[in-house]
Amino acid sequence: MQRFSRFVQPTSIALAQYRFFNIHEYQSKRILKDNGGKVEFGIPCTTIEEVEAACANIKTPQKVVKSQILAGGRGKGHFKDGYQGGVKVCKDAKEAVEVAKKMLGNTLITKQTGAKGQVVNTLFVTEAVAGIKRELYVSLILDRKSASPIFIGSAEGGTGIEELAKTHPEKIKTMKVNISEGIDHDACVAYAKELGFTGDSAEKAANQFKVIYNIGKSKDCTMVEINPFIELENGDVMEIDAKLSFDDNAAFRQKEIFALADDTQIDSKEVLAKKFDLNYIALDGNVGCLVNGAGLAMATMDLISLHGGSPANFLDVGGSAEEKQIVAAFRIITGDPNVKSILVNIFGGIMHCDVIAKGVVNAAKTLQTKVPIVVRLNGTNEEAGKQIIAESGMDVHTAEDFESGAKLAVELAVKGK
Ligand code: ADP
Ligand code: MG
Repeated sequence: MQRFSRFVQPTSIALAQYRFFNIHEYQSKRILKDNGGKVEFGIPCTTIEEVEAACANIKTPQKVVKSQILAGGRGKGHFKDGYQGGVKVCKDAKEAVEVAKKMLGNTLITKQTGAKGQVVNTLFVTEAVAGIKRELYVSLILDRKSASPIFIGSAEGGTGIEELAKTHPEKIKTMKVNISEGIDHDACVAYAKELGFTGDSAEKAANQFKVIYNIGKSKDCTMVEINPFIELENGDVMEIDAKLSFDDNAAFRQKEIFALADDTQIDSKEVLAKKFDLNYIALDGNVGCLVNGAGLAMATMDLISLHGGSPANFLDVGGSAEEKQIVAAFRIITGDPNVKSILVNIFGGIMHCDVIAKGVVNAAKTLQTKVPIVVRLNGTNEEAGKQIIAESGMDVHTAEDFESGAKLAVELAVKGK
């Protein structure tokens, strides 16, 4: 239940990574709407002309302009140029256009984006929902502990749910769903009542919980997060913010959803890694890592940390990487200006050490890599690999074992600062 652990104990890494495929709010809401969800009308726009046209089609006098980035906390976020708020309720179309001019093309920084922020290329211009009585938090995630889908909800929704989970965990209500029995209406009504809904509203909320569950199941979601889930003065309920995440392993059967990928929102290094079938995640340390096997990659990151360093990335080249992938891996690692040393840690099995060595030498030459490289090769064709490196005439350090390799890479990174 990675998402739940993020929720209980947010870490910058968990928030910055895209292990689970995310789509924009407007795309999530389209899926909700198509499956019985109650969302406000809105139009995604990428130009000011489109915003003007959208405003003319939105019936409420007030219009809401919502920055579309793959991170939450937009309302309380700020733009790079100091402009405050990535979600704005505007009094009329004129104001909406003014706001759109400030947001489009600007970079929004929120609690979840990291300091770099994310560029706003799309705005979702929507109806303003009037008569909001309460804003709740409702999400559906997969709980590792109970091995079942679980609803997490709180009557105190809105923007500060992570904080609430820390300070008042008793205000977080959960409902487990038995996957073989499916979702039960009465249980949903009881859960709605726990969240403060009464009478007809509890029925309406229960029906929406079923919609959320059915989407989560049929679309292979790792998370459906509605924040806020709202109750209106007239007793209706709605989802006015939605974030859907999908299981990467289900990409083969959720082609329509995975086609919605917005590469402009993902670290360009991660996009390149995907192209070369490399398992890569950018982190914020200064020791670049190139490793074969996810387990060894994790252990390498641990050893770097143990020796006082900090990994710049996770990178698993897989069991049968070709030379061109190694070159791509180097291009990605050295594309990060924070990288001050590179540790290549290979356990030769199916992967031959000499292939890696050739790749490393070629990549370092082609890319004219300036940062020091430490290579630890062990296993199949180890000697041939070491010879290639020794004969390359390049300033590549060879390490006899894993531990000394990690230690040296950290020392070199410190020196290179
Ligand atoms: P984020 O969670 O990224 O800050 P939200 O979509 O949740 O963005 O918007 C922030 C707040 O703005 C909501 O909690 C709600 O109070 C208000 N809001 C968002 N959309 C609308 C809407 N269509 N009508 C009225 N208020 C809205
Ligand atoms: Mg929200």
